[in-house]
Amino acid sequence: MIDAHTHLIPQHLPQLKELPPEMRLIANAQTPEEAGLLLSKREPRLFVSVGLHPWQADRFSVEEFQPYYARAAAVGEIGMDSVWCEVPLKRQEEVFCRQLELAEQLQKPVILHTKGCEKRILPRLSCFSGRKLIHWYSSTDYLEDYLALDCYFSVGPDLSDEAVRRVACSAPIHRLLLETDGIDAIAWATGKQIAFREVPAFLESQAARVAELRGISKEVLEAQMEENLCTFLGIPPLEGGCSE
Ligand SMILES: [Zn+2]
Repeated sequence: MIDAHTHLIPQHLPQLKELPPEMRLIANAQTPEEAGLLLSKREPRLFVSVGLHPWQADRFSVEEFQPYYARAAAVGEIGMDSVWCEVPLKRQEEVFCRQLELAEQLQKPVILHTKGCEKRILPRLSCFSGRKLIHWYSSTDYLEDYLALDCYFSVGPDLSDEAVRRVACSAPIHRLLLETDGIDAIAWATGKQIAFREVPAFLESQAARVAELRGISKEVLEAQMEENLCTFLGIPPLEGGCSE
């Protein structure tokens, strides 16, 4: 069971060990403090992505994250946002491009936030040679362009949204992942606040819905997503999974 993009709060950290042993999550650290905290956790279920989020591009500098990029499993979420963010796009673009360059140098995969800037991000991303995951893609445009760039996609928690369903149906099976974006995002998307311990059940129900949309079994989808997480992060197959 995979949550390819989530946000944790400190209270969730002790609960990680209560999650099913086969669960894996990529938790996003978007302040230097959070990066220090999450990267200090020794928890086999947890992978950490570190990046200066476009929403906070005028609150921190890329330099403040420098000590953490090399230790992260991925650089992200990074990108641009013209819908939910008032940071000038020029500043966002500068921060995004700088982090893309760093990811290239460090040979790290990247996790992208593209809201409203799908078109503007494309040419930047096409110059990036590493693996890229588009998180919660929700535009009805440009999906074909991202597919052509061989991106991974983590399907957002809002499967009632047509654009999200389109990603769930169109991403190649070997590039498909699921995400929650954290329990507050689940509440935003579904109108239902769940507890952190209920995340596995939420992901199970999402997997069942996506499997149904694609006409495959949930078991096949889940095994494939474990493999996809490993290839995206460039790690060996998970114990007990990924190996068939
Ligand atoms: Zn996020």
